[in-house]
Amino acid sequence: MMGIVFKLILLILLLCPLTINSSFQYLTFVQQWPRGYCTDNPANPNRCQRNPLPTVFTIHGLWPGNFTKILQNCTSSPYTSLRTFQDWNNRNLRWPDLTKPSPTAQTFRQEKFQSFWRHEWTKHGTCSENMYPQATYFSRTIQLSQRHNILNYLATSNIRPGSNPTVSSVNSTIYKAISNHVPDLMCVTPPRQTPVLVEIGICFNATMTTIIDCPSGFLRTRSCGTNTISFPA
Ligand code: 5GP
Repeated sequence: MMGIVFKLILLILLLCPLTINSSFQYLTFVQQWPRGYCTDNPANPNRCQRNPLPTVFTIHGLWPGNFTKILQNCTSSPYTSLRTFQDWNNRNLRWPDLTKPSPTAQTFRQEKFQSFWRHEWTKHGTCSENMYPQATYFSRTIQLSQRHNILNYLATSNIRPGSNPTVSSVNSTIYKAISNHVPDLMCVTPPRQTPVLVEIGICFNATMTTIIDCPSGFLRTRSCGTNTISFPA
């Protein structure tokens, strides 16, 4: 009897980290402004080889989160490479790796041309795998980008690439566009310059049926300062 109880306790202890690791409560859908992400800075010169750069917000990722702790690398579930150039192109259209040049039909199978997706799946996607298996994770993320066009949202306040809006106008415009919910903004600040808009995150409940306020504990909006930011063309 004692032996069985001991084994049961051992089993629960072994399974516990797995359960905790994959218990996501919400998702942050992060889109990035290519001209912002690719702004050269001393720490990251020539970071982008994609040419031409997309002139729309592209996907960075869909990040499962927990209200109390950061979730990353939750399981060892491997990334499944796309096998056809058509599938590669379809995903690339909204989710390009800006650091890489565009491959050809002959070269797209090289590991480097899917390493961004591999990274996003391994670090983030695995944390919602219990609800969104890999193919679903990628297709649902692309659906979200079709539904949430950040350039259109910003245009409602006449905020366009090549301008220097205030951080509060960007924040409140997105807030209104997503039915009064708090977005997550991220900027980088090159030395002695104004912060540059890089990312805008929108948060969803676990079933992706409702937009929620991005949790205050993890907001990156402070990286944009309190005054004007650069939204480079
Ligand atoms: P995370 O690792 O949590 O997904 O996001 C942070 C990392 O994503 C940073 O290292 C940032 O440089 C990287 N990142 C953002 N956009 C791109 C991209 O287009 N390609 C690649 N390879 N990395 C990116």
